[in-house]
Amino acid sequence: MGYIEPAPIIDLENPFESMMSRFHIAAQHLGLDDEVYNVLKSPARQVIVSLPITMDDGSIQVFEGYRVIHSTILGPSKGGVRYDMGVNIDEVKALAAWMTWKCAVVDIPYGGAKGGIKCNPRAMSSGEIERLTRSYTESMVDVFGPDRDIPAPDMGTGPREMAWMMDAYSRSKGMTVNAVVTGKPIVLGGSLGRTEATGRGVMVSALAAMEKLKINPYKATFAVQGFGNVGSFAALLLEERGGTIVSVSDISGAYVNEKGINIKEAIEYRNNNNGTLEGYTGADKINGNDILTLEVDVLIPAAKEDVITAENANNIKAKLIVEGANGPTSAKADKIINDKGIMVAPDILANAGGVTVSYFEWVQNRLGYKWTAERVSRRSDRIMKDAFEVVYKTSVAYDVPMRIAAYIVAIDKVAKTYKYRGGY
Ligand code: NAD
Repeated sequence: MGYIEPAPIIDLENPFESMMSRFHIAAQHLGLDDEVYNVLKSPARQVIVSLPITMDDGSIQVFEGYRVIHSTILGPSKGGVRYDMGVNIDEVKALAAWMTWKCAVVDIPYGGAKGGIKCNPRAMSSGEIERLTRSYTESMVDVFGPDRDIPAPDMGTGPREMAWMMDAYSRSKGMTVNAVVTGKPIVLGGSLGRTEATGRGVMVSALAAMEKLKINPYKATFAVQGFGNVGSFAALLLEERGGTIVSVSDISGAYVNEKGINIKEAIEYRNNNNGTLEGYTGADKINGNDILTLEVDVLIPAAKEDVITAENANNIKAKLIVEGANGPTSAKADKIINDKGIMVAPDILANAGGVTVSYFEWVQNRLGYKWTAERVSRRSDRIMKDAFEVVYKTSVAYDVPMRIAAYIVAIDKVAKTYKYRGGY
């Protein structure tokens, strides 16, 4: 099938181009017609605003803010807001599309969006960040809304910024609208279970994949790259289910203990050590990147994008890769990994536990009700397990790797919904 406007594939080592190249492959498997293909690859709405802010020294600085709504076909759009100097419209566009596929793959009724402000929050005071956040929210009052577009934290933002956004939006409406953002502090309507949600989803995906590969969790060994929110919870929950975590790593390096690292202890150490494992003595230190090629059953990249590349993919010995991070595997590495017969639980499936519990936060806010942590975990585990099964079956039916299967599931769902809803 010929496309009128094929998705640009400029640099396959770039995670966003990687995403589009996989979209393209999945679209071909589905035989997606050109019209729908073009609708799905183009963002529905792009907003760029200038935000003049009075800094603490009295000067006025103008910041650029973005919000891209990729799709509202499945429901109101959902996606984080990042504060970073690297934010630009192309990145925001790609991440917005990514959110569309992620929500569709776990079957939650959301479209995809992303936002950001080009700024360096580490060089700003809390007051400056608050003014910037309120100004951004005010300028997006006609974009955001619990039934329209629901922001959440991303790089450089957290519960504090979400509280300001919720308050600024609520003031503009003259009433409390806590369902307008997720990732809020618990007292403002945040959900129990949100903090560990992504790591928990990684654990559920890992166990589901291991069942298919007939790997016994009690005999399995794991290596987890990244010991932040996602990596440390995934490691802890897998250890609790009988797994042996032989290696963890963070920005300070990788730590190996063949007998298994005591994850609870390592988390405690990190918490009392400025957030890093530097100096951890419960394991031997090795070069950070070497964690990827250790002799383990399961490798969990949960640090950053583009770590598994064409250069190191050949040396990976794990039987299963469960992607906690977004875009940890480049498109060029995909082929090598597939040829080696390694199963991959891809990012848009394996790390969707976070957005799933964000969805629960929104549901609870709209119900005016609070669920227990136990109910949140039970329901998110079920969503993650069901999504895994659907993607697995699709991978068997189309005879494609799990990653392409996940895109097929997502694109098929959005395309079918689009056709039912119809256009002009
Ligand atoms: P985090 O900041 O809490 O932790 C990141 C960890 O990675 C830290 O331990 C850091 O030291 C480590 N790290 C950074 N660079 C590294 C390197 N080169 N080698 C080894 N370790 C390195 O971040 P997080 O929230 O855990 O997110 C990790 C990844 O998961 C990101 O790709 C993020 O986009 C993705 N993700 C997070 C969530 C979530 O809910 N937090 C949801 C979906 C996806």
